[in-house]
Amino acid sequence: MMNILFQKCFPESTAAPLLCSAPGRVNLIGEHTDYNNGFVLPMAIEFRTKLALSLRKDKIVHVYSKNLDKHAEFHLTDNFDPSKQQWYFYIAGVLQLLMKQGYATYGADIVIASDIPMGAGLSSSASLEIAAGFAYLSAHHRPIDPIKLAMICQQAEHHYVGTRCGIMDQLIASLGQEQHALLIDCESLHLKPIPLNMHQVTWLICDTTIRHQLASSAYNIRRQECEQGAAAMQVNSLRQANLAMLTTYKTKLSPNVYQRCHHVITENERTLKAAIAMQNQDWLTLGKLMAASHRSLQHDYHVSCKELDFLVDQALSIPGVYGARMTGGGFGGCTINLIQDAYLNEFKQKITSYYQAQFSYPPKIYQSKPQAGVKLAIPEIAIEHEF
Ligand code: ADP
Ligand code: MG
Repeated sequence: MMNILFQKCFPESTAAPLLCSAPGRVNLIGEHTDYNNGFVLPMAIEFRTKLALSLRKDKIVHVYSKNLDKHAEFHLTDNFDPSKQQWYFYIAGVLQLLMKQGYATYGADIVIASDIPMGAGLSSSASLEIAAGFAYLSAHHRPIDPIKLAMICQQAEHHYVGTRCGIMDQLIASLGQEQHALLIDCESLHLKPIPLNMHQVTWLICDTTIRHQLASSAYNIRRQECEQGAAAMQVNSLRQANLAMLTTYKTKLSPNVYQRCHHVITENERTLKAAIAMQNQDWLTLGKLMAASHRSLQHDYHVSCKELDFLVDQALSIPGVYGARMTGGGFGGCTINLIQDAYLNEFKQKITSYYQAQFSYPPKIYQSKPQAGVKLAIPEIAIEHEF
């Protein structure tokens, strides 16, 4: 399919394009901790960004997105102003940084098609960056350390798109493993694959389909509040803080900053406990940690919204549900739910009808096992979409 699309877009290109795909991700626990040098526990999902790329002899890049049905053209030495907010800046940033750092030389013809819903908190952006960077380097026959690639893609998102994201999304798109979640220490960048034996349990993603405008401004404010908290407690990042310190410094922190720090410190603890529970297939404990994570995001970090809270509250009242929480940045997007297989159909029916009754439109429901990170070739997986 990507081959045919590429031929259609670039009929004059003679060589067969290089094919590659990178996954989206769902964060199982450890939310808003990555940019605080903390712990996160995501898994790569079955939705992928697929990309076909062929190098050119000049420094021009042509890119076509099937999702947007849009073409873009730029020169590798152009200036990209983040305030202009163009969809192709994700790709331009990655390619230009790779060129500036001496990994690559040539322009490219690129076609992309993704089945990751955009802006849903399943990280279509990092998936696009990693797929583009990986294909571009592979075409140049330039291997790169996958962690280094993730860091360059994160830089692209910071400086070309203007989102000061953490490193989680790029790392999991680069290094996800089948049948594993990845416990990431965002300070040392040490990665620990955690086996996820999904015997009789399933991860289900419920998408509110809501995207609140507040998300990006609130994200930057949260980052600043965390930095203020760390500075007041005289540590480099909240990773070095603990609850005892937080109590000691409480009078020096504004109520908001205290709450944000409380979330991050307790979320780091929950994430480490969750990795152990996962390893032991102790779904009950894992589920309780997920629910506690949601309450902390709702009441301490204030990044939830009524649609997410509704989905979590209802999910936790349905039989066979071990745990539920919002996932991703918040203010819309998705929840992640851990459910006993025997109750799966009942859950899907109930959550859809409850949500529909409350908001007059249905949620979207996606199901996924943990998948591999970026790779050459495009797997033909039947993806379960349910609406
Ligand atoms: P998320 O990463 O949660 O999906 P973001 O807002 O970070 O949400 O990234 C979404 C943006 O990434 C889109 O608005 C678009 O600019 C870009 N993007 C992602 N995938 C594609 C694609 N297949 N084609 C074009 N642009 C894409
Ligand atoms: Mg993103």
